[in-house]
Amino acid sequence: MKEKTEFLEREYKELEEKGYTWVIRDLLGPSDVHVNVEGKECIMLASNNYLNLANHPKLKEAAMKAIERYGAGAGSDWSIAGTMDIHQKLYRKIAEFKNTEDAVTFQTGFAVNAGVIPQLAGKGDILISDELNHGSIIDGVRLTKADRAIYSHSNMGELEKVLQDADKKNYRRAIILTDGVFSMDGDIAKMDEICKLAEEYGAMVYVDDAHGEGVLGDGHGIGREFDLEKKIDFQVGTFSKAFGSFGGMLAGSESLIKFAYNTARTWLLSAAFPPHVAAANIAALEVVEEEPERVKKLWDNTRYFKKEIESLGFDTGYSQTPIIPAIVGDSKKAKELAENLYKEGIFALAIVFPMVARDKARIRNQMNAGMTREDLDKILSAYEKLSTKLKLV
Ligand SMILES: *Cc1c(COP(=O)(O)O)cnc(C)c1O
Repeated sequence: MKEKTEFLEREYKELEEKGYTWVIRDLLGPSDVHVNVEGKECIMLASNNYLNLANHPKLKEAAMKAIERYGAGAGSDWSIAGTMDIHQKLYRKIAEFKNTEDAVTFQTGFAVNAGVIPQLAGKGDILISDELNHGSIIDGVRLTKADRAIYSHSNMGELEKVLQDADKKNYRRAIILTDGVFSMDGDIAKMDEICKLAEEYGAMVYVDDAHGEGVLGDGHGIGREFDLEKKIDFQVGTFSKAFGSFGGMLAGSESLIKFAYNTARTWLLSAAFPPHVAAANIAALEVVEEEPERVKKLWDNTRYFKKEIESLGFDTGYSQTPIIPAIVGDSKKAKELAENLYKEGIFALAIVFPMVARDKARIRNQMNAGMTREDLDKILSAYEKLSTKLKLV
């Protein structure tokens, strides 16, 4: 008898032929500016570790101390017996950091979206989503019985039209959902306009600031950047990017937080992250406040790299943040460039169709506060060399 799972091999091969499979490379050591990739020393250009906190001594020390005091695991779901005083301390710290009434954490940012969105809306409601929102928002929306509307990326005219139509249909609730910073282009959501439209049409605003935290608003995120901390109803984020650690967060009103942890199944039915993760997360927020030069350095690096790579002739698209694409055209070219960068000791990610349009394949360069001018110049001279060798620009 043929193996029942034979289709998996066949479908995998199809993915491989289309070039949709991932090559997973092992890091032999911490995620830092300089990394050991399977024995090869590389500059890391593909991590979300914007503030270089993943290997920061304060985070490590906080985590080790917490292991000694609390052990290795939380022992239970958050809801039953997994919430410790150190988790509670983290919630208060997040609320203070985000300037909201209250906050709570989830295992991951993904778990916030997959767990909370389905509880916020149902039949008779409408969820309005930017077309380029993260997959976890898309999945959260799919888990509801609410009506859905998608607007073209950051197209405020279209968003307004959707809100006008929704107004006529007398929905019970309307929620606009958006990423804060979009991960493929590094552009920022038009939060001022979104919040203004939301107010005009009586809609709520849900922002997932995973790539904006630690980066915008002196590190406090998009709410602080636009001075809209009190206008964004649902603030979602993660400790796994600029904050260098792990875990999702939800910040907002007291009533939102109570409601979320009493209804979201990803919170109720899944274990709490270990206490040392909470300790590292608290330390991360403290470091962002104590070492403001990190955010400043990240932006200095961003401005320098963007200017220099553009002067080599590369198109950086709509980038407004430390995510700086170098758009080269078709998928093959982008992959070839990534492979060649790797040979030059630079670990970079090619982003290709279907993640971006067919003719907009790119390398996604992600800046890091820990990079020196020497690191950046090494990357830039590799780009210069390869752009001639591969006839890119
Ligand atoms: C990365 C990302 C997530 C996932 O966060 P995790 O904590 O790693 O699960 C969710 N939303 C957005 C917008 C992201 O960019």
